Amino acid sequence: MSNIEQTLSIIKPDAVERNLQDQIKQEFINKGFEIIKEKKIHISKEDAEKFYKVHNSKPFYNDLCDYLSSGPIVVMTLQRESAVMENRKLMGATNPIDAEEGTLRKKYGISIDKNSVHGSDSLENARIELDFFFKN
Ligand code: UDP
Ligand code: MG
Repeated sequence: MSNIEQTLSIIKPDAVERNLQDQIKQEFINKGFEIIKEKKIHISKEDAEKFYKVHNSKPFYNDLCDYLSSGPIVVMTLQRESAVMENRKLMGATNPIDAEEGTLRKKYGISIDKNSVHGSDSLENARIELDFFFKN
């Protein structure tokens, strides 16, 4: 039975700044993801606050929103079987120190805030986050 899903991936400012976007995109392709949509954008702090509003009570919220709006990012619609879970596996733990060998955050992440990639954490949030960036 096939379970094709779409999820949102973001290549965060630290990775775009180091020009890692093509390398990271190739990692997704190697793992069977299809990049259905893609755009490079620089969002405002207000949009970052909207995107991360689930975290608005966290102590790191303000820095997180400053950071996501600090430079260009690449947002993508990724598609494959079990895309949400498979993307989370490929990304690795939030803190690169805790991420497993071979994961994107282990390979490319600098710190818990500059951890190179975002990925939706559930199918429901994937739909919300894809709409946020790609709904016309
Ligand atoms: N974050 C942070 N400090 C923390 C926890 C999280 O700067 O103590 C940042 C980190 O960049 C993370 C983002 O906030 O990717 C969203 O946090 P979440 O817990 O949703 O982690 P993720 O789903 O990205 O693994
Ligand atoms: Mg999250």
